[in-house]
Amino acid sequence: MTEISKLVRDNIRNLKPYSCARNEFKGEASVYLDANENPMNAPYNRYPDPLQEALKQKIAALKYVRPSQLMLGVGSDEPIDLVIRIFCRPEHDNIVAIDPTYGMYGVCADVNDVEYRKVLLNSDFTFDAGRLLAAVDERTKVVFLCSPNNPTGNLLDSNEIRRVLDEFQGITVIDEAYIDFAQKPSWLNELDRYPRLIVMQTFSKAWGLASVRCGMAFASEEIIDYINKVKYPYNINMLTQRFVYEQLDYEANKDRWVAMLLRQREILREKLESIPLVEKIYPSDANFLLIKVPDATAVYNNLVNRGIIVRNRNNISLCLGCLRVTVGTESENGILINALKEI
Ligand SMILES: *Cc1c(COP(=O)(O)O)cnc(C)c1O
Repeated sequence: MTEISKLVRDNIRNLKPYSCARNEFKGEASVYLDANENPMNAPYNRYPDPLQEALKQKIAALKYVRPSQLMLGVGSDEPIDLVIRIFCRPEHDNIVAIDPTYGMYGVCADVNDVEYRKVLLNSDFTFDAGRLLAAVDERTKVVFLCSPNNPTGNLLDSNEIRRVLDEFQGITVIDEAYIDFAQKPSWLNELDRYPRLIVMQTFSKAWGLASVRCGMAFASEEIIDYINKVKYPYNINMLTQRFVYEQLDYEANKDRWVAMLLRQREILREKLESIPLVEKIYPSDANFLLIKVPDATAVYNNLVNRGIIVRNRNNISLCLGCLRVTVGTESENGILINALKEI
């Protein structure tokens, strides 16, 4: 058995996946009478490509990976759930993650009845691999790292991440939803070196496509094969496949938006620094700023009454008094600044 197969749950390793019509016959034919589709209403009448070959080829070229190293999901949320279901036995295995971080990992763990162990970041939100590894035991199948991290905004130190990749014998997920905003390279470059690494990215943030629900999981071919066996056959519909395929031609737009948002982030930071109410603005490698105020809930509610919505992170570990502010347009940021001056 391979190293990956040993980590996979028995029922998944032995799974004979559902074979859909579009799997059993691939290629071009003139008459399709195999899938009980309606012959009318083309092109919407046909089931979409279950493995999104055309779209994955285009994404793979853009990301310098092989299409076989890529799985597309309904947002990143789908592969997060699939990874837990593939590797973690309910009521037996556990997951270790940094704290605070993205809430979906814990929710998916709870849904799957898998123990979720939180390891606090340092108070300045830096990451200590040794502390995380100390929480790992023989039942730890997956470690979730998020870099840049949500809601803290910072990249995790790459030497600490590398220590986890080198020492942890299970699956390490690095969620890079905000990597386009960071000035450090993606861990995608290291996929071939770390067969137990899964890197997640998404079209929801830098690409401006949150409504489309398309996320990416990158990993060794063996892991991707397991994910493909377990995912719903037609998880990405034809409209999404075509639309994202077209959007990839506009990478320059994404790059312009990222540059604009990074400029606006620093302008927003400077303006926030001049507001006495704002006690602290944390460093950010993402498209948001975490700020500290004396009474986060009061400020949050005051902003809501003015029609301005930020994220109240007051109840999150290490985030007492914190609000998470997404960087918007120059005018949106200006409205926020003016409101904070009045509070
Ligand atoms: C926004 C975000 C995502 C994106 O999730 P989608 O399901 O792809 O929209 C993933 N991870 C983190 C940490 C995020 O903040």
